[in-house]
This record gives sequence, structure tokens and C-alpha cells, in this order.
Amino acid sequence: MHRFFVEENYRKIITIDGNLAHHIADVLRMTVGEKLELVFDDGVIAKGAVQKIEGNKVTVCTNEVVAEGNEPSVQVTLAQGLAKGEKMDLVVQKAVEVGAVAIIPLALDNSVVRFDDGRATKKVERWQKIALEAAQQAKRDVIPKVGAVQSLAQALTNDYDLIIMAYEGETEVKLKDVLTEKKYQNVLLIIGPEGGFSEEEVELCRNKGARTVSLGRRILRTETAGIVALSCIFYEYRD
Ligand code: SAM
Repeated sequence: MHRFFVEENYRKIITIDGNLAHHIADVLRMTVGEKLELVFDDGVIAKGAVQKIEGNKVTVCTNEVVAEGNEPSVQVTLAQGLAKGEKMDLVVQKAVEVGAVAIIPLALDNSVVRFDDGRATKKVERWQKIALEAAQQAKRDVIPKVGAVQSLAQALTNDYDLIIMAYEGETEVKLKDVLTEKKYQNVLLIIGPEGGFSEEEVELCRNKGARTVSLGRRILRTETAGIVALSCIFYEYRD
């Protein structure tokens, strides 16, 4: 059953227009009576069916509010070092599928990718669209936010009860060692770019209370590491 995000608060009968109506009627070619799920701005999720399709308007009548949500019990924000080419597209898509609540693109010392403001804005718009599509496909209850491209220092100003830096130079502490200490609620997971972290970045993170952890003896690609670490966190917390 398809799930769509509507930018309105819950009501039983809703008329959808614009891109979403086009997607439902023309791309998916849904028909009257076909069942679907709607996620409303106020967080209500409801099952319903297409009641009417007229021009570029689709009317949906909902008949059941969905109680059980699909979101993980722990909120994990992925702060991903900017990576080359289409890798960020892949990282955003997979992070949303797996359950990240937000994604922060990081301009790090060893990031070979550098965007000027205009290009960065366009890239974030692109990644946000990928996040919406992935959230629909994964039947998420929320659309994870893709933040502006920012520095490590900026990303560290937000409030988390655990900051994990997956650090290729860490040989002692394993991710599981940290996760089994207690049930954290609001985690920041930091992944370096292809060139890894600079020493200054490791020091900055440690000074801010981040825990550097190893993801194992094998070195993962930057686009692999975040997905592996996210999966381990949700696995550990039975999400
Ligand atoms: N240039 C680094 C090197 O050669 O050691 C590798 C960087 S790796 C391609 C990119 C990022 O993935 C790292 O900065 C880290 O965040 C994460 N990563 C990859 N493998 C890891 C591991 N075994 N333990 C911890 N983090 C890892």
C-alpha cells in the first residue's frame, strides 16, 4: 500500500493537488477505491482510499488512523562527510530507509568535494527530495530533514545525549561497547569522507565529548560506514 506525506493537518476527507496529485493519478495511475496511507503534518497517519480523481485533484477519504508508528525508539542524526559524485545521494537514500531522523552534510578538512553556497543549496534540495522519496518507500512516519552543508563545529552545537565518531584510527573502543552502556535517545553519528578525519577534527570531537569508535578491522568506504553504523545502532536497540 502506497504511503504519501501531505502538508496539512489530519482530516477525514482531504483533496490533494499539485505534484502529489499528479504522482498519484498520472504516475502511479491509482484509481478510485484504491487503498493508500497518508501521513499528515500533525503526525497523524491514516489509511484510506481514493474517493475521486478530477483533473489535477485527488480526493481521499480516510477510514482508520494507524496507531503503531514505524519510527525507531532512538533518534539518530547522521552527520556525513561530503563524499564524491553520487555517493551522497546513496547515503541519504539508505540512511532514510534504515531509520535516520536527519542527515547533516559535513564539509570536513579532507572532503575533496567543495560547494559554493549556490551549489550547496541546490544539492541539499536534491538530497531532501531523495529523502522524501525514500521515506515514502520505507513507510516512514516522518520525512527526515537534510540540513544545510555545515562545518563539524556547527554540527556539534546541537544537543545530543551521545555523539559517536566512527574513527578509522580507533583501535580500542567498539561501537557496541558504547551502545550497551545505556539506552541513548538522541544520537549524533559522524562519518568521515573518503580521506578520513584530520587529527584536529578528532580532537575537536573528543573535546565536545564525542566517543570515537571502531567499526571493525576492515576499512569501509565512506558511503558504507554510515549505513553499517546506523544498522548496528538500530539492531542493538531492537529497532
Ligand atoms: N582514509 C582513511 C584510511 O585510509 O584509513 C579511511 C576513511 S574511510 C574510507 C571513511 C570514513 O568511514 C572514516 O572516516 C570513518 O568515519 C568511517 N570508517 C570506515 N571504516 C571504519 C572503521 N573500520 N572503523 C571506524 N570508522 C570507519
